[in-house]
Amino acid sequence: MPEENSKEPAGTGGPEDTPGGEGGNVEKKSQIGEVSCSNCGAPLEYMPGEAVITCSYCGTTTMLADFDHIVTLESHYLLPPAVGRDESISIASAWLKKGFHRSNQLPNKVHWKDIEARVLPYWVVRCTANTRWSGQQKRTRTVGQGKAQKTEEYWEPVQGHFSEDYTWPVYAREDTAEFWGIRNIEPGRQAVFPDWGKFILRFGGSRKAPNRDLLEGKADFSIEELKKSGMQEHIVNGQIVQERAEQNARSRIIEMHHTQAESRATRVTDIDTTVDVQGVDLVYLPLWELTYSYGGKDYRILVDASRREVLSGEAPVGKWAKATIFDIVFLLLAALFIAIGAGADAAWAYVVGGVLGAGAVAYTAWTATMKE
Ligand SMILES: [Zn+2]
Repeated sequence: MPEENSKEPAGTGGPEDTPGGEGGNVEKKSQIGEVSCSNCGAPLEYMPGEAVITCSYCGTTTMLADFDHIVTLESHYLLPPAVGRDESISIASAWLKKGFHRSNQLPNKVHWKDIEARVLPYWVVRCTANTRWSGQQKRTRTVGQGKAQKTEEYWEPVQGHFSEDYTWPVYAREDTAEFWGIRNIEPGRQAVFPDWGKFILRFGGSRKAPNRDLLEGKADFSIEELKKSGMQEHIVNGQIVQERAEQNARSRIIEMHHTQAESRATRVTDIDTTVDVQGVDLVYLPLWELTYSYGGKDYRILVDASRREVLSGEAPVGKWAKATIFDIVFLLLAALFIAIGAGADAAWAYVVGGVLGAGAVAYTAWTATMKE
């Protein structure tokens, strides 16, 4: 096993950080390292900080533990891609018209700008997390009888435990902002981003990433499989070694379980989470990142080329979704004021109710004239 602190992260000073220019490029070139593939002998180039290098000729993955210490990774996997460039657009288009918040006309109105293939390295930490917690729950009860009856608050001791299995993804590189949506596949992270524009009644539309089994359908890493979808040129080398990925997954899972435990009682006083790691695998995920423009703005969608599904996406909220939300809110308020008017025999409340109701009708009429 390689040493944890064997590599400096990329971009910690040094010439590769100097902006542009010819001088910068020359310096950058001298920073490129080269080793030979332990399987086929092909030269493997790597950038400073890269520690997990996959041969684009034979697919063997080499881990650089130290400058003169090279290990070949026993097992590394690929979720074989099943989707080429054109099909990725169909998958993204089908997603764009799905659901209450997006207009079903959207796919006909967007302009596809940029479609990039990426085969990204993730350490997938197979583990079970167990959390025990205890605390207090605020409750109310009725005491006394007849006229002396009253409601009082009291605290009840509560406790519980929960456990969940994960195939937790840790991006195997330092810069999790280098491509869009890299961390959006982590369970519980926001994965769907509605764009409401100036609309302020923002109800729903966003989604969190589910706890999916990232190893389902995994196969031994194979360049041939990537070639079928034209993705073999887009393999990205890893930089983070296994131990660090494991630590990273542990702390993220503990953090998440603590948040979950804290939502189960009014006051949580004690939490203990243990993460039992069964194994850590390097898995390459083939992804298509699509950028489209709509209404003068750019939005992104990440398509899983193996599962044929959208992992994460940004989309404008449709005009009729906004109108429906607007009308529900305004008509509920109108009904409330009319009820007040009826109950208190107050003319002003009828007027307010009427104005709110008219507002809903007007907004609907305005929406009908608006371009989607
Ligand atoms: Zn090779």
